[in-house]
Amino acid sequence: MSAYPSVHFLLSADHERQFPGDSGAEVAVAGRSNAGKSSAINVITLRHGLARTSKTPGRTQLINFFELAPERRLVDLPGYGYAKVPPHMQAHWRELVGGYLETRNSLAGLLLIVDARRGLNDDDRGLIASALRRGRRLHVLLTKSDKLTRNEARQQLRHVAGELDPEATAQLFSAVSKEGAEEARHALEAMLGNKKPGGSGDRTTGSD
Ligand code: GDP
Repeated sequence: MSAYPSVHFLLSADHERQFPGDSGAEVAVAGRSNAGKSSAINVITLRHGLARTSKTPGRTQLINFFELAPERRLVDLPGYGYAKVPPHMQAHWRELVGGYLETRNSLAGLLLIVDARRGLNDDDRGLIASALRRGRRLHVLLTKSDKLTRNEARQQLRHVAGELDPEATAQLFSAVSKEGAEEARHALEAMLGNKKPGGSGDRTTGSD
């Protein structure tokens, strides 16, 4: 059983000109290197191995596009915040991901993967700000919840949710125990479904 029976890899891009057509709706998945992004994608789509879990954090600087269903995509953004990444690669990341987040019309929302033990850092906050500025929806997965006690996990969730814009949502998640997998799928569906057809992604300009 797969949550998306026809999910498949579309293409990898390291430049905007390689992106697939900007129609329909897509949700981008972002997170610090090693936060658990690939594991989360595999659990949410129920496709083990769809997104490759990283052996070397910070190596992949590509945006990977997956088709969940016709005109519905999941977009795996390269991880960030790995200390050993040389400055030219960090600059490439900013240009590639920054450009994508700013200009992509079909981008309905951001699924941000955060290690529940660590909480948000400034890189996460920068990404959140740029997503919200453009009217994207935001859902945070506090993953690796299996590494915390119930009390610690709940406390972290309260703490992170308290930092977020009231329109954003957050939940606990674990790729190991599968806690929150169904909730994450619902959040993904809600973001994909709520995209206004042909919308600009900027809620300050809704003249239609
Ligand atoms: P990415 O770099 O963000 O794509 O992270 P990966 O998905 O490759 O995961 C990084 C490491 O964390 C790997 O060793 C995973 O097995 C581990 N990991 C990911 N998710 C979880 C989780 O929910 N619980 C636990 N205990 N480990 C996890």
